[in-house]
Amino acid sequence: MGDRSGPLGLVILGRQGSGKGTQALRLAAKYGVVHISTGDMLRAAVEEGTAFGLQAKAIMDAGDLVPDDVMVGIVTERLARPDVVGSGFLLDGFPRTEAQAESLAELAGDRLHLAINLDVAVDEVTRRMLSRNRADDTAEAIARRLDLYEQQTAPLLAWFGTRGALVVVDGLGTEDEVFDRLVAAIDHACSS
Ligand code: ADP
Repeated sequence: MGDRSGPLGLVILGRQGSGKGTQALRLAAKYGVVHISTGDMLRAAVEEGTAFGLQAKAIMDAGDLVPDDVMVGIVTERLARPDVVGSGFLLDGFPRTEAQAESLAELAGDRLHLAINLDVAVDEVTRRMLSRNRADDTAEAIARRLDLYEQQTAPLLAWFGTRGALVVVDGLGTEDEVFDRLVAAIDHACSS
């Protein structure tokens, strides 16, 4: 991972329903970095009704993952844009597989400083997601997404851990409490 000469580069990991998206928005504002949410980018493509959007919608509705090469293409393009190059980034929803993490390391390893795992247990995230009524939050899709998370994304914690670039933050508590914990963890990790 890179040293802290240039703009800050962060990744936020966490189970679906951990509050990752909300906290990512607040963190991006606080640190002045660009929030890159791959879920938001895919939902925007769905809204636009492009051929790609239609394919993405079918995959997302089933709780499956969009293919790695497609996601890597989208993120590569986004990371190259001037706003991100100038201000840094907070990636939310990417990487989700080890192949994506490898691509990210190749593509932006020196611009990336820290991965944060926002930790909330499976029971609690299931409860939260069932109560939020999002279109792709059917019980089946939730179970499938959490399953994929354990299989594909949880191993990324070890991947970042062995590279000395992971902090784990407890995601239970009020939104403000969790935010304060995240800021403390990032400031500690990125100032040392
Ligand atoms: P959640 O955290 O609730 O899964 P996201 O907004 O991060 O929500 O993603 C929604 C959906 O978009 C995912 O279930 C998946 O189908 C797709 N998606 C988002 N990011 C990726 C990615 N990096 N790789 C593959 N699929 C992705």
